[in-house]
Amino acid sequence: MLYADFRNTLQETLDAKLRLKADGIENSIRTYWQTEKLEMTKEWANSFLFFKRKDDRFEQIAYQLTIEELNRGDDIFTVSFIFDPQGTLIASSHVLEDTKPFKKIVLSTAVNKTNSFDVVRLNILSGQAVPFRVITKPVMANDKVKYVVAVMTSLIPLSKELAELQQAFFLQIPIILLIAIIGALVLVQVTLHPVDEMVRSIKQINADTLRLRLKVPNTDDEIARLAETFNDMLEELEQSFISQRQIVQDVSHELRTPLTILQGQQEVALRRERSVEEYKEVLYSNLEEIEKMKHMVNNLLLLAKIDKDSILKGIGSVDINKLINKMVEDITILAEDKKIQISIFERNKNILVKGDETYLKLLFLNIMDNAIKYTPKGGKIIVELIKLKSWVLVRIEDSGVGIDEKDIPYIFNRFYRVDKTRRGGEGFGLGLSIVKSVLDLHKGNIRVESEINKGTTFYIHLPLST
Ligand code: ADP
Repeated sequence: MLYADFRNTLQETLDAKLRLKADGIENSIRTYWQTEKLEMTKEWANSFLFFKRKDDRFEQIAYQLTIEELNRGDDIFTVSFIFDPQGTLIASSHVLEDTKPFKKIVLSTAVNKTNSFDVVRLNILSGQAVPFRVITKPVMANDKVKYVVAVMTSLIPLSKELAELQQAFFLQIPIILLIAIIGALVLVQVTLHPVDEMVRSIKQINADTLRLRLKVPNTDDEIARLAETFNDMLEELEQSFISQRQIVQDVSHELRTPLTILQGQQEVALRRERSVEEYKEVLYSNLEEIEKMKHMVNNLLLLAKIDKDSILKGIGSVDINKLINKMVEDITILAEDKKIQISIFERNKNILVKGDETYLKLLFLNIMDNAIKYTPKGGKIIVELIKLKSWVLVRIEDSGVGIDEKDIPYIFNRFYRVDKTRRGGEGFGLGLSIVKSVLDLHKGNIRVESEINKGTTFYIHLPLST
């Protein structure tokens, strides 16, 4: 545990300080011996006299040593002693009335000849026992214990420190932790509140309430971005739902007229007996209506297929010159019926376009088909192929009825027909939406210029194959 580690470290530090002081006193004693020895050698004294004399002087000098060690400017208050091996006090840095508690410790150190740390309790403050940490250290000469140095310090400051530490660990730290936990909970609550609100709003959104949007918080953070992204997705879904609904409405609307005609014709035919010729006529007329409906349904399925293929599958390099020439050849028969003249101008040869040949045929077929459809007898159609830097431009110009400026933005929409009364043979208004879908798939674009009764020009750009 952290607290136990702290306590041990504090105790070890205190012991190290005591040991340092005791070492200091031992060193001083040894230095004293050295000088004494030198002096005595000079005096030619015998060894007995030397030891005898040294011991006599030592008692006077020892007090000095203990005081010296005391004055070293340490950060703890210590009391130093020098005992003889029998436990009799020779000198001390402070006057201590009762040194009995030390006797046992000193004797045991003198016997063991090693340093020892103990705790003694001294009655120094009006009879109150104060605990002291004490180190006893033997000072040896010729393998014999000459003195025992003791240094002690009060354990009260350490206890105080430990008590404070204990308070920090067992009282303050839990309080800090509690505050941190409460803070974290409040923070989580504050940050998650907008998420909760979002979840509540999302739960209200279904297929019928797609117009609802999430409230975007004014925070410019992840939550705000999440709400924005979700709203973008809702916008896309809503648009897609609206257009799906529109298609269903349009299809029902478009099918209603031919079905009404079919029904009417059959009802009239069944009103009375008819000749075989009359029945045949009704059946042929019915067949024509059915043919038209089939054509419309096929075109719708085709559109659905193109829109589903968000990326081109049968991609390859298509020679656009070849493709256009072949198509013009095919529709010339149609054009000849109306005495329409078709000319091709190939500004460049072998222009390769990246794309799906079947879809590209469908694109140009619809445009050329319209050109013949909306150009009166004796008119003309010009097809021009120009290779640009990274595009091919296919220009298809006719001298037909033209399109009113106000209609141009809508002609690529599904089921949009300029002249709604001219239904039947003129188609269902799906041709140009197929053109647009194929172009989107090929990352191409289309532009129209038109003047009523003068003619229409379509400019189609397709990316070249690299
Ligand atoms: P539709 O089946 O009616 O031809 P399209 O989608 O192909 O449908 O064309 C939409 C409308 O755009 C047509 O109804 C027609 O009014 C107009 N349009 C298209 N091409 C031409 C053109 N070359 N000249 C005049 N009008 C055109």
